[in-house]
Amino acid sequence: MASELDWIFGWVEKGGGPNGECWAWQRSRFPKGYGQQRISGRTYRAHHIAFAAGCGLTKTQLDLLKLQFGNGNDDLQIGHHCDNLCCCNPEHLILWTGRENIADRETKGRTASGEQVSLRGNRNGSRTKPERIPRGDQHYSRTQPERLARGERHGMYKGPDQMTSRVFELRAAGWLLREIAADVGLSRPMVGYILNGKARRPAPQPLETPS
Ligand SMILES: [Zn+2]
Repeated sequence: MASELDWIFGWVEKGGGPNGECWAWQRSRFPKGYGQQRISGRTYRAHHIAFAAGCGLTKTQLDLLKLQFGNGNDDLQIGHHCDNLCCCNPEHLILWTGRENIADRETKGRTASGEQVSLRGNRNGSRTKPERIPRGDQHYSRTQPERLARGERHGMYKGPDQMTSRVFELRAAGWLLREIAADVGLSRPMVGYILNGKARRPAPQPLETPS
């Protein structure tokens, strides 16, 4: 059944996975391993879109379905038969209730161990299928370094050295903190942090090298 969401299958690589039939998502992933795709500014799990496409649903119908996901509501989920979280093969996807999902996982745990129910320690997926966890060069910090807030975008960014130098200059000239704050475009508390050494001080001047 054709769906207006069929474009999702243009971003998968068919083949691979446990049975060689998985359709692995080729674009960005959530840290847990699910494929990630934005549509009109909203972020979706790629396999949710794939599931909807496989059912011939429209984008509107996907959104109605998606209302049931997340927000702590585990009653309705789209799971993977293949346990391959980035897989977008509709034949490997199943719509189930959270309860069924837990039952399925417990069954798999019991099947493997005889009586074990929870998947912990060496039975946890991170140990039995470590290749499923994106690490090293596969980790999103390497594949998409732009997603990490670094430098000026990071919350602990202290401001360029030039700016802190100016804070000290103005303070030495007798300016009030709020006047300095207005001048350099920082908050008054931030100016205080800089002056108290809690934020970065100006970089030391490089030593003159004798020629
Ligand atoms: Zn699969």
